[in-house]
Amino acid sequence: MREVDAYLGLGANLGDRERALRVAVQRLQATPGLEVVACSSFRESAFVGEGPAQPPYLNGVVHVRTALPAATLLALGKALEREAGRALPAPRNQPRPLDIDVLLHGGQTIDTRELVVPHPRLHEREFVLTPLRELGVDVAALARPARPRVIHDPAEFAAVCTGWHEGGCQIGVVPTMGALHEGHVSLMRLARAENDRVIATIFVNPLQFGPKEDFAAYPRDLQADLGRCGAAGVDLVFAPSVAQMYDPGFCSHVAVGPAAEGMEGALRPGHFSGVATVVARLFALCRAHRGYFGQKDAQQVAVLRRMTRDLGFPLRLVECPIVREPDGLAMSSRNVYLGAADRRAATVLFRALCAGRQAFAHGQRHRDALLEVARTVVIAERRASLDYLELRSEPDLEPLPAGPVDHGRLLIAARFVDGARPVRLLDNLSLTGPGA
Ligand code: AMP
Repeated sequence: MREVDAYLGLGANLGDRERALRVAVQRLQATPGLEVVACSSFRESAFVGEGPAQPPYLNGVVHVRTALPAATLLALGKALEREAGRALPAPRNQPRPLDIDVLLHGGQTIDTRELVVPHPRLHEREFVLTPLRELGVDVAALARPARPRVIHDPAEFAAVCTGWHEGGCQIGVVPTMGALHEGHVSLMRLARAENDRVIATIFVNPLQFGPKEDFAAYPRDLQADLGRCGAAGVDLVFAPSVAQMYDPGFCSHVAVGPAAEGMEGALRPGHFSGVATVVARLFALCRAHRGYFGQKDAQQVAVLRRMTRDLGFPLRLVECPIVREPDGLAMSSRNVYLGAADRRAATVLFRALCAGRQAFAHGQRHRDALLEVARTVVIAERRASLDYLELRSEPDLEPLPAGPVDHGRLLIAARFVDGARPVRLLDNLSLTGPGA
C-alpha cells in the first residue's frame, strides 16, 4: 500500500491527561512504518455527549504519514489506550485515560463495524476541527456526510448494504410509508439500540392500496421525515420512487395465507399481498438481520411473520409496542386528517378495547360477552362507524371459537367521515399483556 496522510484524534479526561497524550505521541513516533509529521497543540474542552457529567477533556490531533491500513491504525490506537489503563471493550461515553480515533486516512472512506472514516462526527466536534485547521487541513473542503444518507436507487441501496455485511455489521431495517410520528421513531430507536447500522425505508407502496383507497392522498413529507430519522440515529433512508421499486415488467407477487383472512384482509382485498411483496423485496435488497414492525398493525405482523418463515429470510422480526397519544389514541399517519370533533371521538377505539380488557380482568371469560362490552362503548359514539371488532388468539391472531377464552387480543377498526377526508383507524389490545 502506498503512503497516505492520516490524522488521529487524541483525547483524555482521567488522570494526568497531558502526560497520557504526550506518551501516546511518543509511542506513535516509535512505531515502525509510521512517521509523525506534526502534532497540534492540546486544548481543553468540556465533555459533549450523552450520559453523566464528566471532567473536561484534553484533546489534540496527530498528523502521521504511513502505509499502514486504517484498521491497523485503529488496532494500534486500541493497544495504546489499553497501555494507558483503559479497560476495553468499554461502554460508550465513559471517562477515559486515553482515547484515539482515526479521523482521516488519505482520501479513503471506510464503513465497517469497527471503523467509519472520515470519522462520522468530525464536523460536529470543534475539539477536532480546531486542531485539524492548525495542522493545515482544509476542513471546509471535507465532504460533510449526509445524516442520514438518502438513497433512491435500489441497486445502490443493495450495494451499500453489501458493504456493511462485508464489514461485519448487524443491520436493522424499519419499513415505513413515511409521514413519520413517534410510533415510527420508537421502532427506529429500538433498531438503533440493537444494530450497528439502521435503515429506515420510506415508500408509499401502491401495491397495498385498493383502487378506491387513499394512495394519492396519503400524507408525504420527505424533508420532515429525514429530520426525524436523523434524530433517531438512522444511518440510511431508502426512499425509492414507484418506478424505481417496480420496473415496468414487475409482475411477481407474494401470495399470503390464512393470516391475511378476515379483518383488514376482508376489507382490503390484495392489501396484505401488496405489503408482503414490498417487504420481501426490501428484505432481499438489504438482507437485514432484524426487521422492526409495530404491533399497531397486528394482522400485518402476523402475515409478515409467516412470510418471513415461509420464504426463509434469515431475519428476526421484532414486534414493537403501540405508541399512543396522551389520550390513548394510537398514533397513525392518518390521524392528521381527522376533523377536530372526530379527533376527540377517535379515542373511542382505545376506550372500547380497555373496557373489554377490564371485563376480562374482572373475570368475564366468554368471548361474545367480552366483545359485547367493547361494542357497547363504540356504538355510543355516533361519529364512529365500526368496521370490525374481533377477539383473536395470540400470537397468530387465529379466530377463537365461541365460549370461554383464557387469552386473546381484541382488534378494532372504525371509520370517521367528518374531517377533510374519511379516515379509517385501527387499534388492538391484548386481554392479558402489558398496556398496549
Ligand atoms: P406505516 O408507515 O403506517 O406503514 O407504519 C410503519 C411501521 O410503523 C409499521 O410497522 C407500523 O406498525 C408501525 N407503527 C405505526 N404506527 C405505530 C404506533 N402508533 N406505534 C408503534 N408502531 C407504529
